[in-house]
Formats: sequence, C-alpha cells, structure tokens
Amino acid sequence: MKCDLCGSKRNYIKDHEHIFTIKGKKLRFISPRRFCSKCGNLVYDADLDNKASLKAIEEYSKLYGVPKESIVELRHHLNLSQKLFSKIIGCAKKTLVSYEKGASLPNDNDLIIIKSLLAKPETIVTLVTANKEQFKNKEYNKIQNKLEDYIGNNIKN
Ligand SMILES: [Zn+2]
Repeated sequence: MKCDLCGSKRNYIKDHEHIFTIKGKKLRFISPRRFCSKCGNLVYDADLDNKASLKAIEEYSKLYGVPKESIVELRHHLNLSQKLFSKIIGCAKKTLVSYEKGASLPNDNDLIIIKSLLAKPETIVTLVTANKEQFKNKEYNKIQNKLEDYIGNNIKN
C-alpha cells in the first residue's frame, strides 16, 4: 500500500475519529485506519475503509434507524422468508438481504414500514391485505397460513 500524496510505502494503523454525515445527520465514531509514516496522509486500505463505512451505517442505525438485528428478529418473529418479507415490505429481496447484513440503510419508505412493524407486528396483516394483488395465489395462501399462526398465538397470549 502506497501513499497517494508522497509515494512512501511505510505506513501504520491507528484509531481515527471519523465524522460522517449520513442523510444530513452528523455521526462521530472511532475506527482504525491506515496512515502514511512519512507525511501522515490517510492511506487507502480496502478492508479498513470498508469496516469504517459499515461502522458508520451501524452508528446511524443505532441513533436514527433500525439495527440490522431488529430486522432479522422481526422477520423470524413473523416466521417469514426473506423472499416473502421483502415482497410484503415492497422492496427487492437483495435489498432486504443488504439491510439484514447492515451493508445498506433502509430507505425512508422501507424504514417507516419496518419501524411500524416493530412497534405493532400485527400491522403486517393490514399490509398484506392491502397489497393482495402483488402476490401469487400460492404465496398469498402461504403468507396467510404463517400469519394465522402468529395472530393465533397473540390471542392466546
Ligand atoms: Zn505520504
């Protein structure tokens, strides 16, 4: 790894205070980065740079969004596959996968839906019924079966 500024190949890793702005919100956190020993410039390191971006998303989610674990828990709680859950929310399956991995942040629409489901999981029934046309019959029946169990358990409790 070479410094872009002075060309030196000597560098070291140290904790760096980051200030990121995501969706207009300022975030501050510490994560290790690589620096040039000669001039002190930040040296590109794919692994550390990627870790810093993931950390930024994690910090943002903690403060303003939904932690990735909560999305996974919610889906498990509803007993739905990624394919069905993403369809109900109205996003692509690969988008949901990326939310669950913490690789990207839910967009504003998805965030509103996910937050309302976390607060009141039973709202999923309304969501499914309202968007009935977008499911194949087989899928719709499958979802209904899974949610029936869920609603049944809630009544029992
Ligand atoms: Zn340098």
